[in-house]
Amino acid sequence: MTVKKDKVVEMHYTLKNDAGEVLDTSDGKDPMPFLQGHGNIIPGLEKALEGLKVGDTCDVSVKPEDAYGKYHDEGVQEIPMDAVQGIDNLQIGMQLQSQDEQGNPFVVHVKEIKDESIVIDANHPLAGETLHFNVSIESIRDAEAEEISHGHVHTPGHHHH
Ligand code: ZN
Repeated sequence: MTVKKDKVVEMHYTLKNDAGEVLDTSDGKDPMPFLQGHGNIIPGLEKALEGLKVGDTCDVSVKPEDAYGKYHDEGVQEIPMDAVQGIDNLQIGMQLQSQDEQGNPFVVHVKEIKDESIVIDANHPLAGETLHFNVSIESIRDAEAEEISHGHVHTPGHHHH
């Protein structure tokens, strides 16, 4: 069995940035399950893993456009401190819910905290970054029909929606 659409795959992974810093890893945790072919993982990684078998490892570098997108300067906005009154422990990197002009909610993160204002950023924290993955394939199985229709993996006691 190989990694392809509608297979549930478990992988161990380590993710580094261009500077070689570890941004995320499954080391010391359970391998991460995902449903191949449903956008559970970034497109560039999904493409690189296609066709691998259990026990295979893979080093892949994914450009921003195949990962979390390019960095858009217009996603950065400075808002008065008054607008975030009532939020405790305001800190850099913290995620906040914001609204666009139509009232649709979206998530921003705090980029900078000044005396009277804060700078918020609607870009994904990894936007603009080339991501370097080291992946090993731990298991592959057929997905259940329900998993395919939901577009994600169902694991006992760990069912995200
Ligand atoms: Zn589900």
